[in-house]
Amino acid sequence: MLKRFFLLIPLIIFLGVLFMSFSNTPAEKPVPFKNKKIKTIIVDAGHGHGRHGGDGPDGARGVYSFEDDITLGVAKKLVAEINKQLPDVKVFETRPTDDYVQLKDRAIFANQNNGDLFISIHVNSAPKLREVKVIGHHRETYYVYSGKGRKKKKIRKTRTVPTYRTYYYPNPANGTETYVFDSRKTDDKTEFITENGDNFMNEQDDSTMITDTKSPELLAQAALWTKKFFFNSIKLASHVEDEFATAGRVSRGVKQRRVGIWVLQATAMPSILVETGYISHRPEEDYLNSEKGQQDIAEAVTNAIKKYKEQQENPKSAPDQSNGGR
Ligand SMILES: [Zn+2]
Repeated sequence: MLKRFFLLIPLIIFLGVLFMSFSNTPAEKPVPFKNKKIKTIIVDAGHGHGRHGGDGPDGARGVYSFEDDITLGVAKKLVAEINKQLPDVKVFETRPTDDYVQLKDRAIFANQNNGDLFISIHVNSAPKLREVKVIGHHRETYYVYSGKGRKKKKIRKTRTVPTYRTYYYPNPANGTETYVFDSRKTDDKTEFITENGDNFMNEQDDSTMITDTKSPELLAQAALWTKKFFFNSIKLASHVEDEFATAGRVSRGVKQRRVGIWVLQATAMPSILVETGYISHRPEEDYLNSEKGQQDIAEAVTNAIKKYKEQQENPKSAPDQSNGGR
């Protein structure tokens, strides 16, 4: 009997800890965690080949290039740059080749390799602007009827009407944006999918993942991770955007969203998604496809990682100026 009681002790402790952790959760506020060594970085090249022709994950499309090719190019340079500048840090790639990798598998891979940072590389796109103009006038034929019954007559007439033409213009949107997962609490699935949805047409393959993984356990876990890593994600994202601005890019700032970035909430580490530029903006499509452009992006992100790492590992030497972005 006594023996059995002793066997029960670990279980009682376990349940106690479990209960305490649950009961503390709602009141627990997200706080930045410090003094954590950055030993492992996960680099995620967005999208990938593999389902061409259908609702494929190739991502956004430019005049001559696809998002997934650019993200792979940038990711490779980012890996090389981190290896060069931070030789003690291990780097893992979620998508090392052209082949598409399920987002679920990317998150599992990042967690299994105990990543300290998750950096997803993407390319933005904005729809063309549409304008309808009157470009002249033309004659139009129409018919009227007069009289009644057997005397009813059909009369042919003409009138002058405007001639319309629809013009499409390239969207002038350009520059970089860095996203973190929106930490606002919601249990409403439709909000997940529709919020900001029209702005992120190119990320649809990502958002469909939400429905695949809508188990209560997973969502609860994801909510805890989001809460835990929110401030650190914001901090890293701010450094990335600062570095882009320093490098002369148009920085559109740090943003939060829920759509299209499922993978960020499924990773147990500070996680950001970098929209490295607009493929729909002709000069930026060239930049994103160029060796120099990709190298600039890789260097900016690496500089941001170095700043973040320095702050995390030496909090006294680098005072934290971040207000959490809210
Ligand atoms: Zn994308």
